[in-house]
Amino acid sequence: MSNLCVAKFGGSSVANYEAMQNCANVVLGNPATHVVVLSASSGVTNLLVELANGQLDKEGQEAVIQKIIAIQENILEGLGHPKEITEEIEKHIKDIRALAHEASMQTNTALVDRIISNGELMSTKLFTELMKQRGVKACWFDVRKVMRTDSVFGRAAPIIEVIRTQAGQELANLVKDHIVITQGFIGANAEGRTTTLGRGGSDYSAALIGEAIDASEVEIWTDVPGIYTTDPRLVSTAHPIPELTFDEAAEMATFGAKVLHPATIQPASRRNIPVFVGSSKNPAAGGTWIRTETQSKPTFRAVAMRKDQVLLTLKSFKMAGACGFMATIFGIFAKHGLSVDLVTTSEVSIAITVDNGFSGGNSDGKSSLSDALLNDLREVCNVTVEEGLTLIAIIGNDMSYSTGTGSKVFSAIFDVNVRMICYGASLHSLCFLVDAKDGDEVIKRLHVHLLD
Ligand code: ADP
Ligand code: ASP
Ligand code: MG
Repeated sequence: MSNLCVAKFGGSSVANYEAMQNCANVVLGNPATHVVVLSASSGVTNLLVELANGQLDKEGQEAVIQKIIAIQENILEGLGHPKEITEEIEKHIKDIRALAHEASMQTNTALVDRIISNGELMSTKLFTELMKQRGVKACWFDVRKVMRTDSVFGRAAPIIEVIRTQAGQELANLVKDHIVITQGFIGANAEGRTTTLGRGGSDYSAALIGEAIDASEVEIWTDVPGIYTTDPRLVSTAHPIPELTFDEAAEMATFGAKVLHPATIQPASRRNIPVFVGSSKNPAAGGTWIRTETQSKPTFRAVAMRKDQVLLTLKSFKMAGACGFMATIFGIFAKHGLSVDLVTTSEVSIAITVDNGFSGGNSDGKSSLSDALLNDLREVCNVTVEEGLTLIAIIGNDMSYSTGTGSKVFSAIFDVNVRMICYGASLHSLCFLVDAKDGDEVIKRLHVHLLD
């Protein structure tokens, strides 16, 4: 493994000129950093999604475009409006304007991806210029040359072998004597059409690139100094966790710790690449190291919450004593490309949760739970759909082998209605569903009882 670090900076880290200067300091502070992966500047993807959804009239579109221009202008001003890069940004704005008009006539997921990819394309061009102005041999790199995905626009899946081959051909030499600046979140299918990995996908991009070039480390620089015991915006006593295992971090990301995209840990753990999470504004504050092994293995490490969960209860009297009902059900989910989260079963029914929120939705923010899927399910069983639920996850170690885990958790929330519980499949998590209105309170109470 080479001594090569991939550093990813999120939206707030590249929100404006000053924030971008902090990123440059971080990159220059680690001589091993030769690949920089960026998100769009904070707010830009949301604005582009508004345009891409095609609901705005001409005036509405222009108002949104002006907001996007203002964000780019702040950075261009700091850079002193160099001619070449100013023209490049103008070209993107022109492109956005034309595509937004097209979307307002009729939009589709491929068009959405073309529009929203402009956020990352612009932030990386601006940051490359900033690095050059700091005397760095930096080069802008179009990630679509390596980030091959399938054609599921809006939540495309990476094709790992192709990414590795392409990275060997297109990136390996470049990183030897350049700092390569490239886009998170976006990719391209076999025909070269632009795709996206789903909201928050830049973390995943960084880990995928790290895997493809055999990096020695992946750094995720964000607006908090590490992964906390729970979202610090919700619980003021939450504290950073110095080290986490890949397993724990994967469970946290999957079950709602927004600081990492749910799939980020997969490439890192496949190749055993340590991942660091820290604050680009305050790198000296330290952060979280995610590795195969950690020194401490507490039963309770963190609590996380994922909103907008849908519970499907599938009932069939044919299920009793019969074989193959589960296979049929999971086959239907597979056919519709939807992943199933929590599952519990009884004699004649299966309860399944589906993530309809930020991490489960597509890049355009639309639900992935389609009528077509529900109709297919109704062909084989009775379907009840319950919305407005929140998934609570307690993350830790050897949970299902520690006496009293359940009573410690549920005594803290004895007066809350628990709709479904999943426990035992993983040593690292205990998950359950509560009504959306109880979510925040449950997290706060669990933090006091298990982690303060
Ligand atoms: P970026 O734009 O850098 O990708 P995100 O907004 O996606 O940043 O993720 C950082 C945010 O994640 C934090 O500001 C914090 O509110 C939220 N968050 C949720 N859970 C956690 C957690 N357990 N630890 C740290 N941050 C968390
Ligand atoms: N810009 C994309 C988003 O806002 C990807 C990312 O930031 O990770 O979802
Ligand atoms: Mg993020």
